[in-house]
Amino acid sequence: MTQLDNILEYNKEFVDKKEYEKYETTKLPDKRMVIVTCMDTRLIELLPKAMNLKNGDVKILKVAGAIVSHPFGSVMRSILVAVYELNADEVCIIGHHDCGMSALNADSILHKVKDRGVTQGKIDTLKYSGIDLEEWFQGFSSVEDSVRHSVEMVDNHPLLPKDVPVHGLVINPETGKLDVVINGYK
Ligand SMILES: [Zn+2]
Repeated sequence: MTQLDNILEYNKEFVDKKEYEKYETTKLPDKRMVIVTCMDTRLIELLPKAMNLKNGDVKILKVAGAIVSHPFGSVMRSILVAVYELNADEVCIIGHHDCGMSALNADSILHKVKDRGVTQGKIDTLKYSGIDLEEWFQGFSSVEDSVRHSVEMVDNHPLLPKDVPVHGLVINPETGKLDVVINGYK
C-alpha cells in the first residue's frame, strides 16, 4: 500500500466518524495575526502549542527558513491577502534555531540536482536567462539576521498599511522557547 493509499484510507474513516467536528472554525483568524514560519517538521505541532494557538486562531504561512525573499513573491502576496481580506492586524515572522536553511549551501544542492539527472546544459540555460541559482539556493548564516531581513522587507512594503506591526522571533525547535528579535510595536 502506498503512502497515499494509507492517507486516503485513514481520511475516509476520519470523515465518516466526524472527527472534524472538534476543529470547526471560520476562515478568519480569531487572534487577527498572520505568521510566517519554517516548514521544519519539528514545528508542525510544537509551534502552535508553544504559542497557545488552535485551529482558527491565526493564518500560518510555511516556507523553508521562514524567509520572505521577494517583495512581490507569493509569500508577500499571502501576507497582504491575510491583512486586507482576512482581518489579520499583525504579522509575525518566526525563524528557528538549527534550521535546514542555515546549513544550505548552493554548490551542494546544485551538485545533487545534477546527480538526480538535471543536465549542466539546463543549469547553464537558467544562468544565461539571468537566474542566479547560487543566490536562490543560498541559506543564511544567522537566523536572527535572516528574520530581521524578512521583517524589514515586510515592514517596508509599499502595500502594507503602516499601522500593522511586524514582529520577528526565533523559536527553539526542541523546547518551543521564543526569543524576540524585533518587537513590532516599537
Ligand atoms: Zn527551518
